Amino acid sequence: MELSNRQEQIIQIVKENGPITGESIAESLSLTRATLRPDLAILTMAGYLDARPRVGYFFTGKTGSELLTEKLKKFKVHEYQALPVVVQEDVSAYDAICTMFLEDVGTLFVINEQSLLVGVLSRKDLLRASIGNQDLTSVPVHIIMTRMPNVSICTKDDLLLDAAQKLIEKQIDGLPVVKPVENGMEVIGRLTKTSVTKALVELATDQHL
Ligand code: ADP
Repeated sequence: MELSNRQEQIIQIVKENGPITGESIAESLSLTRATLRPDLAILTMAGYLDARPRVGYFFTGKTGSELLTEKLKKFKVHEYQALPVVVQEDVSAYDAICTMFLEDVGTLFVINEQSLLVGVLSRKDLLRASIGNQDLTSVPVHIIMTRMPNVSICTKDDLLLDAAQKLIEKQIDGLPVVKPVENGMEVIGRLTKTSVTKALVELATDQHL
């Protein structure tokens, strides 16, 4: 994050004199404690300074990029997941293509009658089926999908960074966010490259203090 001149000054004062009370910082800047309060709150929240009761403020010694990395490593899947788009395993490849266009997604999750995850269907799976000259209205998606147990998954409490690592390692665009239930897994979300991109933009524009 971009620090203001005054915030830079505060850091410098705390670096040289910490631990130091808010009152003393205000004095050395010839400002009131109340004027400084928002700056001190921001610097503490962002991790540059730490405050101990009855001791005062001290410098944590962390650089901007260290703080950024710390923040990124705390992001969870549930903060960025999107709604899942699912189809039943017996719908046709033709209908799956329509769903993909209507819902504007690149990955569909395939479920069985009990609403449990049985597979994943990507654009390429549908393209592959299309070039075989088959009648797409009579090819059910379970024939062409990537099926369990080969589906890579994540859960809502996984770290975003771990999910992103899976996307890269497996060279895929999305992961179903699942919740384990008695006989398998229910799909509760969708974690895609777009979700990771959103996190990156948020981080860079300070929306995730
Ligand atoms: P695209 O078809 O747009 O390139 P992907 O790269 O995600 O999309 O898909 C490539 C292949 O990986 C497809 O065969 C697809 O079924 C499979 N796939 C997609 N997502 C997963 C996943 N979460 N787990 C396992 N396989 C997947």
